[in-house]
Amino acid sequence: MKNFQEILHTITTDIKAISNRGTVASYIPELAHVDPTKFGIHLLDISQNNYSTGNANEAFSIQSISKVFSVSQAFSILGDTLWERVDVEPSGDPFNHLSLLEQENGIPRNPFINAGAIVIADVLYTHLKNPKEDFLAYVRNMANDNTINYDEKIALSEKNTGYRNYAAANLIKSYGNLKNDVNDVLDFYFLQCSLKMSCKQLTNAFFLFINRGKCTQGKTFLNVNQIKRINAIMLTCGFYNEAGEFAFEVGLPGKSGVGGGIIALLPNKFCVATWSPGLNERGNSKLGMLALEKLTTATGLSIF
Ligand code: GLU
Repeated sequence: MKNFQEILHTITTDIKAISNRGTVASYIPELAHVDPTKFGIHLLDISQNNYSTGNANEAFSIQSISKVFSVSQAFSILGDTLWERVDVEPSGDPFNHLSLLEQENGIPRNPFINAGAIVIADVLYTHLKNPKEDFLAYVRNMANDNTINYDEKIALSEKNTGYRNYAAANLIKSYGNLKNDVNDVLDFYFLQCSLKMSCKQLTNAFFLFINRGKCTQGKTFLNVNQIKRINAIMLTCGFYNEAGEFAFEVGLPGKSGVGGGIIALLPNKFCVATWSPGLNERGNSKLGMLALEKLTTATGLSIF
């Protein structure tokens, strides 16, 4: 096998030659300003070697990737009782759909669809003393990086246009599965989604998911069994209604966001982040997904 750096370099050259890069998300108006030609990959292996190409050090809006951090923090606070509030089944529906919520009495299918992440935000809002500060501190600690921050302009842009999220939160509230005020929870949820991180910072933060719950500094955030569960949810629910296709093409647990980022990981081996802002019709980064397919095909490394 060629080394990771050579493989990432070949992938990046191939990807740069592709002209159809997908469509940048515009339903959050502030996201629409991103340059669609940006492309980066960063890979961090279990020995903490770093491999990088393209715009891997540029921070972008991680959006739904933040849901892995929020469910991790909620899981470490509540333990298994968390799963009474949110299920762990793939939805097969787009990330912002509401129909299942009504059929299933306000218990969202999983913590990665918007409805599920809103319930998780409600849990954190209840249990964190200062939700905004404490969640940011948690992510900064995971990544060992105090430069990570929210982008309040993006959060505000989503607040002004997040009609479906208001609908979801109100529906959940009507079933009694949202304990706090809808506006407070959504303000926190939009802020959480507005986190900006680079591919490199994402791999640092996700190192603990390949390292049995211990971050790059050796501190334990989750136990081995909790890591097993979060990685399982990433595999089955991490890519909206394209989780099956992602497992088929790439073969790794991971999570995408509408900012065009993807994190994917192979436990005990490596975690890798890609960023390409153009999305496919299911809301996943078109070229990020292709890059990861090329990576696992070229290396022969996947969970399968
Ligand atoms: N903040 C976004 C929303 O709620 C996240 C969507 C995503 O990245 O999947 O619509």
